[in-house]
Amino acid sequence: MNKNTRVFHVNGKAHEEQIREAARILKEGGLVAFPTETVYGLGADALNEKAVMQIFEAKGRPADNPLIVHVDSRENCMKLVRNIPEKALLLMDEFWPGPLTIIMKRKEIVPDVTTGGLDTVAVRIPENSVAIALIKYSGKPIAAPSANLSGKPSPTTAGHVLRDLSGRIDAIIDGGDVTIGLESTVIDMTSEVPAILRPGKVSKEEIEGCIGEVKIGYDDKVHPESETVRSPGMKYTHYSPESNVVLVEGEHDPVVSRTKELIADFNLRNAKIGLLLTEESRSSFPGILSYSLGNKNEPEQAAKNLFFGLRYLDEQKVDIIIVDGSFRKDGIGMAVFNRVRKAADMIIKV
Ligand code: AMP
Ligand code: MG
Repeated sequence: MNKNTRVFHVNGKAHEEQIREAARILKEGGLVAFPTETVYGLGADALNEKAVMQIFEAKGRPADNPLIVHVDSRENCMKLVRNIPEKALLLMDEFWPGPLTIIMKRKEIVPDVTTGGLDTVAVRIPENSVAIALIKYSGKPIAAPSANLSGKPSPTTAGHVLRDLSGRIDAIIDGGDVTIGLESTVIDMTSEVPAILRPGKVSKEEIEGCIGEVKIGYDDKVHPESETVRSPGMKYTHYSPESNVVLVEGEHDPVVSRTKELIADFNLRNAKIGLLLTEESRSSFPGILSYSLGNKNEPEQAAKNLFFGLRYLDEQKVDIIIVDGSFRKDGIGMAVFNRVRKAADMIIKV
């Protein structure tokens, strides 16, 4: 793995030409990172085994962790799946294009490497014009996990992708920052009661408003040993920077006091500290290295800032990152907490 990673910027005039060139690389079995509305994805032709195998290699991703296949239209989705439940069609009507990944039975044309050997496949249509153009020009369904080294926080900028994967992939399309900042909601439509396997921007309530009862098929802990988890990706370490992460979860006042105690403690041990704080907490910690998660009542801001903040503090080579968990837990807030809990080495509830 020693590739010359080309960078295509798509803000200027050459836009279409650049995306066509990236699509050509995909068509020929190469790896191209690209922006979506959720995070940056690392794409390969989902039907080309060799190409898909390179994704696992480049990311250091375990082979039994299946990939999400990105398509540009419902028609092209139908080429990949069979026995489609009526409710899955309703979800497509309501949420596609958008940050909802739907798991259905796969057709034979989808290779084992793409699905981790499962007889199901995860599909979505992204809501990002660069991503859609890339898929369209390539004429292929594109398998694309997040474009980070396995276990690291997902990339929300092209810079993050380059830091992790430069030299390991053929190209990246730099389309600026992503809009959401967290990966898609994943729902399994092959079980009797549909199951949410990963929370995201599309909430359980919104899904239930569309198709009725669904169950939660994930929890917020890492399962290093478990063989029985429904979504293979759930058992691996996730979103972890090099630094140790401590999450302090609760209402504003107790979170601030507990964080002050922790800082005093870590200072005694000469640890370099970085804080991920809500705007409301920032004035309580003057002079300490911190990054803002945004307003505590607007979890969309925390979604957008979380992975950026973890990576930023990591680059400052802090030993400990303390995360202020006093932002709202509803809507996308639930998905943000899911990611922080998975990233955390220690969770303190106050
Ligand atoms: P990422 O590609 O990093 O966004 O991760 C994709 C997530 O979707 C992982 O947690 C996978 O385990 C999950 N996933 C993809 N395909 C399937 C599938 N066929 N069945 C269950 N989970 C899946
Ligand atoms: Mg990922």
